[in-house]
Amino acid sequence: MDRLMIDARLNEYTFRERNPNIPFSPEEIARDAAACCDAGASIVHYHARDPETGSPSSDPLLYAETARQIRGACDAMIMPTLGANTVTDLDERIGHIEFMAKDNATRADLAPLDLASISLGMWHEGMAEVGGDDLVYYNSVGILKALAARARAVGVLPMAAIWNIGSLRVLEAFAHTGVLPQTIFAELFTTEGGLIAGHPGTRRGLQALVDFVPDSVDCLWAAACYGANALDLAESAIEQGGHVAIGLGDYPYPEIGTGQPTNAEVIAAVVEIAHRKGREVATPEETRARLGAE
Ligand code: ZN
Repeated sequence: MDRLMIDARLNEYTFRERNPNIPFSPEEIARDAAACCDAGASIVHYHARDPETGSPSSDPLLYAETARQIRGACDAMIMPTLGANTVTDLDERIGHIEFMAKDNATRADLAPLDLASISLGMWHEGMAEVGGDDLVYYNSVGILKALAARARAVGVLPMAAIWNIGSLRVLEAFAHTGVLPQTIFAELFTTEGGLIAGHPGTRRGLQALVDFVPDSVDCLWAAACYGANALDLAESAIEQGGHVAIGLGDYPYPEIGTGQPTNAEVIAAVVEIAHRKGREVATPEETRARLGAE
């Protein structure tokens, strides 16, 4: 069984009402990344945020400065986002990745491709109507091919974000036609908390994806849940030889410690499960080697 790779999902576009420990500024993100790396994460995923207000930012300088500080603070593989779901312009989606790659000190290691176009419907019990009327996360085959090619052209390894079984079929097709590498990290997303676009964040919701991970590709899959506690899914992944993507960007984790844990405390909770299950945790160097990164 592969050593457990943990991706710390540091901030997404989540605000601090429910947990004040979500990092915004490059300094905060780098400090948090280093603490997660010490706790057992070998990949860190972040979105650039306005340092003061936390508003989403697509400023390449902010992305690069954050990567520079992360690299100065730890060895974790660096995975910035590949554009917000509202950004449709191709140059804008990949621009920060290309800008960062101009300097080895700020180059991203991984770039996430969402292998599906998704209607981002919002609904939970008690809502009279479904929200998200105009929210479509648009990822046509042509856009995905272009994003993968442009990331690889600047030495950044694509990874896959999986929303449904169809995404896994696209992954297989892309791996066999050279769009994606033969060895690929793939995060299997489930969604809760009102986002109804993904599979439910239950073991069954996750398993429906795991069962369709293609055998013909060296796919290193990770369990993830946006909008709810993913520790039970993490345990299932750890038992099955999968990996884990988790953090305060997805959910505030009031169940851990004092009720307002740090990202590092969330990672420590995953490592504790791994130890209990007898699964070794991969170092950043081991994760890099396993994913075929330089
Ligand atoms: Zn993200």
